[in-house]
Amino acid sequence: MRLFIATLGTETNTFASFPTGLDSFQRGFWNEGDVGSVPGSPWAMPAQRWLTHATDLGWEVIQSLHAFAEPAGPTVRSAYETMRDRILADLAAAGPVDAVLMFLHGAMVADGYDDCEADFVTRMRAQVGKGTRIGLELDLHAHIDHRLLDVTDLIVFYKAYPHIDYAERADDLFALMRRTLAGEIEPVMALFDCKTMGLFPTTRKGPMPGFVADMFAAEGKDGILSLSLNHGFPWADVPHAGAKMLAVADRDPAIAARAAEDFGRRFYAVRAEATLPFTSLAEAITEAQRGGDKPLLLADTSDQTGGGAPGDTTHMLRALIEAGITNAVYGPLWDPLAVGICMSVGVGAKLKLRIGGKYEPYSGPSMDVDAEVLHLAPNTWQDQLSNERVPIGDVAVVRVNGIEVLLNTRRTGVFSPTMFTRHGIVLEGKQVIGLKNLFRHTDIFAPLVRGQLYVATPGACPPDWQSIPFKLIPRPMWPLDPDPLG
Ligand SMILES: [Zn+2]
Repeated sequence: MRLFIATLGTETNTFASFPTGLDSFQRGFWNEGDVGSVPGSPWAMPAQRWLTHATDLGWEVIQSLHAFAEPAGPTVRSAYETMRDRILADLAAAGPVDAVLMFLHGAMVADGYDDCEADFVTRMRAQVGKGTRIGLELDLHAHIDHRLLDVTDLIVFYKAYPHIDYAERADDLFALMRRTLAGEIEPVMALFDCKTMGLFPTTRKGPMPGFVADMFAAEGKDGILSLSLNHGFPWADVPHAGAKMLAVADRDPAIAARAAEDFGRRFYAVRAEATLPFTSLAEAITEAQRGGDKPLLLADTSDQTGGGAPGDTTHMLRALIEAGITNAVYGPLWDPLAVGICMSVGVGAKLKLRIGGKYEPYSGPSMDVDAEVLHLAPNTWQDQLSNERVPIGDVAVVRVNGIEVLLNTRRTGVFSPTMFTRHGIVLEGKQVIGLKNLFRHTDIFAPLVRGQLYVATPGACPPDWQSIPFKLIPRPMWPLDPDPLG
């Protein structure tokens, strides 16, 4: 067998002002050689698993570009076209292949392309014809409709949010592709539109863990090969937005359609209970002032880079200082300029420093602070799962009004407490841990804190959907409309 593999993704916040250029991919995750030779990470892992499985089976693997950018505003047209055409040219140069496996995020929007994945795979299908099987792994915060379904043989989404299962879902996709190539199965797919938007963590108490368990339990039975709930990505104004249920069945489109609708309606029935609850900044500060035996974790959700926000707002830090909270940690605050200044003056220096609020209108005001440089580290990382690394760039830890603030040069969310602990910050004993993140930190920080609040700060990823100026998303859409499925 000959297998062609590639990776191309980002998650586009169409409301964010700063575009995602080629440089954002090159500085993000970029591999043009052997993806098997780089450290494991959420962006490398799917292709690494396919490479391992295919090699074990004695298949020939042709690798193309592997590129991923941290979410931000729409991708620059020439950047998308350059990467797309590069992969298509590699595929043409490879000659006939039996299968293509690609990890695409599924929510990339570029100038002139509201659905980059559908455009990309449509061109690929035209190039390879029907004889080559095409399989995709997608993040569950994707947008999908028939355009992508029509040109793809197999699609498997992550099932877990926080995303801890990208490697296992890559294994699932590989296994289904192997069986398809062997003639054991003939996958057919169906999609059910749940007409719902929001954030639906799968590890939080409530209906989602059971829903995910039910999907697993139904796979491999009664003709069902795979089930995926695409949660959708709410900070994008595109006509194919919203949560959709995907079912893959063996040969029988009616089984796929029935399973997609059955599970889609089950999710729809629990959508409100499954939604992540948010707290206002004022309420969060009041709760933080109460104190307790362990720190309170405040997630600065609207400025999370994982949703395309800049990661440099100062609203939460300012509120902590104004509330007189001094025993706290806050970060990561993305500010390459301030990190550079700290690097130039060195550990121990005390200086007046302007931090945050620089990059785009959603960044809001910057803050002028009296800072003491506590720690500096070039080109560092945080841990992810057991053996992966997420780069965080250069780091400067400064003390501001008693609060330890972690400044860094690479836009990233928080995957692990090692984001802080690797840089001399002790989390135990703090009154507040303030994070620029939405949800992915929740389970791993749970043992360290007395509680966690998801705070509706101002920013590019606000959770009050009614406030977002959507023009293109399909309506009716819950919760903008009360009961779209009736
Ligand atoms: Zn996601």
